Amino acid sequence: MNTTKIGWAGLGNMGIPMVSNLLKAGYAVQVFNRTRNKEKDVLDAGATAAGNLSKLGSGNDITLTMVSDDAAAKELFTAPEGLLAGEVKGKLFINVSTVSPETSRFLEESCINKGAAFMEAPVSGSVKPAQDGTLIILAGGTEDAYQKAKPLFDVLGKLSLLVGPVGAGSAAKLAINYFLGLNLQGLAETVLFAQANGVKTEDMLTIINEGACGSGITKLKSPAILKGEFPAAFALKHLAKDLRLAKEQGLDAPLSTPLYESFKQAQEAGLGDEDVMAIYKHLDK
Ligand code: NAP
Repeated sequence: MNTTKIGWAGLGNMGIPMVSNLLKAGYAVQVFNRTRNKEKDVLDAGATAAGNLSKLGSGNDITLTMVSDDAAAKELFTAPEGLLAGEVKGKLFINVSTVSPETSRFLEESCINKGAAFMEAPVSGSVKPAQDGTLIILAGGTEDAYQKAKPLFDVLGKLSLLVGPVGAGSAAKLAINYFLGLNLQGLAETVLFAQANGVKTEDMLTIINEGACGSGITKLKSPAILKGEFPAAFALKHLAKDLRLAKEQGLDAPLSTPLYESFKQAQEAGLGDEDVMAIYKHLDK
């Protein structure tokens, strides 16, 4: 059993497999999720329940957070009964959700004001890499915090990089998700164009995946296109959020606005809780 006590808030699609891997690696993990019944799977796997955020933050050495967006992360840390409400001097907090660099710096400042340390560590990779412990972890913070967090990163991911101070990890994450969005939009548009000209979907996907244009993401998402089913691994609303954050962070490239608009419209059309690849369904009108 590893002696570092780990706290974890946020048990959605990503949080559950990540906590499961920490448990398998021998860490004692205490958890809290706003919707308490979603704690069941990890409690069955050996985690314990903190009952509230304040106890989670003060009762563990390192507490990680994996929630939807900036507002949720801010609320977790700074609510009157939030993670920082109790005695947290000397503790380390790591936000692994995708938020803006500005929010990350706000969280860092909130922690420092309470005598705690903060690091951001958004992750690249979806549910399968989270299950397999093969995420790529984009850390931003001090070398000291990174060295403390590294054993956890080694369990959760196949690679972690300290890319700079707090804010740099979030910026790297927004950049890679812009590239992800371009890939998904491009895949959907390409297959639909081919279809409209009499090419079978299956054949077009084979042409893509067997050639130089095939990639991890095109291969991963092809079965969903063929089945026409898009259960969320990475919810479309989260990518729409990341594209908005990238724009707010200054991304102003020829494709950035139309790409954001496309995902935003798909979300507005009711596809936000389906997988990012449901952009295909949205464009297939
Ligand atoms: P998810 O399945 O939608 O889960 C969201 C989690 O956030 C749930 O635990 C939810 O609690 C919690 N939450 C939302 N608002 C909250 C609030 N105001 N206060 C407290 N908790 C709140 O999301 P996910 O797919 O795990 O993604 C989490 C983060 O990782 C996002 O920032 C996403 O962009 C990023 N990410 C996702 C993927 C992916 O493939 N899924 C990959 C890389 C990064 P409830 O259960 O109570 O609703």
